[in-house]
Amino acid sequence: MAINNAYLNSVYEDLAARYAEQSEFLEAVHEVLETLVPVVESDPRYEQQNIIGRIVEPERTVIFRVPWVDDNGKVQVNRGYRVQFNSAIGPYKGGLRFRENVNLSIIKFLGFEQIFKNALTTLPMGGGKGGSDFDPKGKSDGEVMRFCQSFMTELCKHIGPDTDVPAGDIGVGGREIGYMFGQYKRLTNSWTGVLTGKGLTYGGSLARTEATGFGLCYFANAQLKANSQSFEGKDVIISGSGNVAIYANQKATQLGGKVIAMSDSNGYIVDENGIDYKVIQVIKEQKQARISTYLDYVPTAKYVPGCSGIWTVKADIALPCATQNEIDEDSAKALVANGVVGVFEGSNMPCTPEAIAVIKGNGLLYSPGKASNAGGVATSGLEMSQNSERLSWTFEEVDSKLQGIMESIYAACADAAKKYGMPGDIQAGANIAGFLKVADAMLAQGVCY
Ligand code: NDP
Repeated sequence: MAINNAYLNSVYEDLAARYAEQSEFLEAVHEVLETLVPVVESDPRYEQQNIIGRIVEPERTVIFRVPWVDDNGKVQVNRGYRVQFNSAIGPYKGGLRFRENVNLSIIKFLGFEQIFKNALTTLPMGGGKGGSDFDPKGKSDGEVMRFCQSFMTELCKHIGPDTDVPAGDIGVGGREIGYMFGQYKRLTNSWTGVLTGKGLTYGGSLARTEATGFGLCYFANAQLKANSQSFEGKDVIISGSGNVAIYANQKATQLGGKVIAMSDSNGYIVDENGIDYKVIQVIKEQKQARISTYLDYVPTAKYVPGCSGIWTVKADIALPCATQNEIDEDSAKALVANGVVGVFEGSNMPCTPEAIAVIKGNGLLYSPGKASNAGGVATSGLEMSQNSERLSWTFEEVDSKLQGIMESIYAACADAAKKYGMPGDIQAGANIAGFLKVADAMLAQGVCY
């Protein structure tokens, strides 16, 4: 759909022609640009200096071969990516995703989102993202280690504590970060905070594991509160059962909600008595098993194959925490029909544009991932601070900083939306507040990138 401003539309059309095959990236760019119309119209410098044309093009993209030897002695090859999108306000920062469907479009969409997300945290972090079409699922520890070492052997040439600081994402947890950190240290003969999400014995931050899920609930709680609502007594659906989903469950439950459904890429479970996050921790973090095995622990629960059906479960709050485009128009209609009061995004771009239109059009509360899942990268920023200070803060200290950051992100989004004539539109507010910070830094630095 055309964007209602000639300059923004021409930048988008040019991008769409150049990168026609990058559908996820184009979707993410379109979503941001269409909310920037009043910003570009209120300050001619953004067009004069072609800030939009510059911000949609990564500063640097690295694509590389990752050869590794499997347990049968066979040489396998995967592709590695690092997209260094924008360094106007700090070193590139953003996770690494290991999953078989990873391609340049997915990494660029994630890197683009990361620019605005990182700006919203108020910490000095630019935007970047990377990963590989390697999936650790079904691989032995030895295979994962050899892959990570090979991946880092190339990646280490492009990153550094003041240049680019990767973290985890789908398929990259503590184990993978550990293998990559060890290899970086060996290759560079230096101990630096070059990766975040590290283990607690070697520079990791307390509460980093919990941060994205906790942060999501702190954000949702602030938005609910501003609309005279809360988690108290509400049934909650959480898609996924990975890092974000597990700790979203813990915090939503602490805040008085009851999590009645969770999923993985094979299917979903429903437990009307409430899903204990500790059982999911055992299944996913200790046993690396499927969510269907929840019935071994709670036989009264129900398992349904296929993941999209989770959005038809009757509940009050939806927290998508799995992957991109997991809620389409039909799923959004099902949420509306079931009387859901709000959809707060834990994963990146889980709602399609059509789904967002249905959600917002029916008056549900809605928060975009780039705002409500920023707790992970914010705590990564706190991990970088602790590494630089050579200090470790307590769990409570980090958690309380995280809560403060999420509440101030919500306030910044709400204020920006109001200032630009869209009160209550947290999606527009997030894009505008994130954009202004980065765009003004780009203006100040001249045409250097
Ligand atoms: P994990 O790899 O820990 O977990 C991903 C979960 O989603 C798994 O349970 C996976 O199931 C499930 N899943 C994948 N595809 C689908 C699908 N189509 N339907 C239902 N479930 C699915 O990843 P994270 O929890 O770290 O990341 C989840 C999302 O949150 C991603 O979008 C990520 O970019 C975003 N995010 C993560 C942050 C972090 O700190 N970890 C920070 C900010 C955003 P299976 O086991 O079957 O693969």
